Amino acid sequence: MKEMVLLGDEAIALGAMHAGVSGCFGYPGTPSTEILEYLVDAFERGEGPAARWCANEKTAYESALGVSFAGRRAIVTMKHVGLNVAADPFMNSALCQIKGGLVCVVADDPSMHSSQGEQDTRFYADFAMVPLFEPVNQQEAYEMMAEAFELSERFAVPVVMRIVTRLAHSRAVVRVAEKPRSQNPLDKGLPQDWMLLPALARKNYAKLIDKQGPLGEWASSWSRNELVINESRKDLAVITSGLGRNYFRENLGDYRASCGAKGLPSTLHVASLPLPSELIRKLADSAETLLVIEEGMPFLEKQLRGIIPGKNRILGKYDGTLPRAGELNPDTVRKALGLPPNKSVLDGAPAPELPARPPQLCKGCPHHDSYSSLNLAVSRLNEKEGRVSTVVAADIGCYALGAVAPLKAVESIVCMGASIGMARGAAEAGYKYAFGVIGDSTFLHSGLTGLVDAVSSKTPVTVIILDNSIVAMTGCQPTMLPSSQLEQAVLGIGVEREHLKVIEALPGKVEENARILQEEAEYPGVSVVIFVRECLEAVRLRKKREAVTHG
Ligand code: SF4
Repeated sequence: MKEMVLLGDEAIALGAMHAGVSGCFGYPGTPSTEILEYLVDAFERGEGPAARWCANEKTAYESALGVSFAGRRAIVTMKHVGLNVAADPFMNSALCQIKGGLVCVVADDPSMHSSQGEQDTRFYADFAMVPLFEPVNQQEAYEMMAEAFELSERFAVPVVMRIVTRLAHSRAVVRVAEKPRSQNPLDKGLPQDWMLLPALARKNYAKLIDKQGPLGEWASSWSRNELVINESRKDLAVITSGLGRNYFRENLGDYRASCGAKGLPSTLHVASLPLPSELIRKLADSAETLLVIEEGMPFLEKQLRGIIPGKNRILGKYDGTLPRAGELNPDTVRKALGLPPNKSVLDGAPAPELPARPPQLCKGCPHHDSYSSLNLAVSRLNEKEGRVSTVVAADIGCYALGAVAPLKAVESIVCMGASIGMARGAAEAGYKYAFGVIGDSTFLHSGLTGLVDAVSSKTPVTVIILDNSIVAMTGCQPTMLPSSQLEQAVLGIGVEREHLKVIEALPGKVEENARILQEEAEYPGVSVVIFVRECLEAVRLRKKREAVTHG
């Protein structure tokens, strides 16, 4: 064994490599991005297995499924909302008899540090009836990858690894293996195990249900689901999962002192789905009240009500013992344990007033010039009509910052690709000028289909594609297609040549570009305006590459 300092994301990537993974796929999304970044770097250096960024999470999941079908181990990575995009292959893959181990790593973002929602991936794993692992630290994240692949192959099911932002983005010393396990040989799955035609799918669904009992037994015997009973304490027991365990342990010194002679309550740490029901029942027999400390939505709390109905009083997020929204932290858990607040460095003094620092586009960002043109066009169109007759629906990327001052250029940001569909809907509802603003990467991720709909119905919308030649927001991953191919894609869908405008997003062209937007907005059909200019970071990276090539 050797020691390395790794991010949680990197520990997972290295864990997968050391477990003999053959194919790695993903779509960037904070806080999961660094997993595939690590694997892609290794692949490009010739030191790791095939690792590819994909157009979206669905195509990534399907590519991983193909590796598994071929008998080899695969990892697919995404953020929590990415699993919504991959939900179709994810749910159906539970019915396939997984061949090579398949691990889907999903990074949840409680507190929404860089996300539009707090959804909890455990609900998805439960819905699909597949196992889920939840590490508490970087070491476990590394080790659990090999265990997840083994479980996936043993039960022929995909396994989900759920992590959260604090684990993904913090570093720790991790003891890692010296040598990777060798990759599985090529060995295709059987067609009847992978063709979900109704007659076969019904049989496979029955097999999935049959696996639940043995999986439940495995969960209750897995050493990472750890039960500690204190026979002399009958009033309270504590259940932790994920980082909830760390916050509980951080308070243990003071808590032990406050417990006095009766000692610490019995505890159960839950690291898996299916839940270790047998251990939960033993814990419930040991005490009247259960305190549930879990990061994310009150998933465990809800499940407990089915496993031990009415038996115990349950404290947690439903009754307000812990906050329902946002991340847990040592202070919220401290309060739930009945401990007084830690002494603050402020010592009772009011917190100093700090100026707000909302995120901004980089100075000189091309999106600023594109939005300046759009704002000008929108104000002129509304002025001409004498009333509000414009809608500007936007999407997810750096350009979402066009929503805030001073630009205040967009009116909706919902999910990847929603801008085009929402603009089309608003046009169908009666707004005369509907704009959908989307980045080049987001367009390829899930905007193409929205454009197909608009072209099919000939709905008058103006789609604005902000082509900055990179996936900027998640750390500058390469875009899937160069600008020239983007134009071909738009034309191939059926947008008329004369209503596809490709213009430069430059400060000196704000007025000229606004006029083009106005003209296209007046066209009673689908028009697409592509604003082209590289992201400043893309320019820097390109120059660095060129210097290496020429140097
Ligand atoms: S990273 Fe690039 S796209 Fe994002 S705000 Fe900065 S310049 Fe603009």
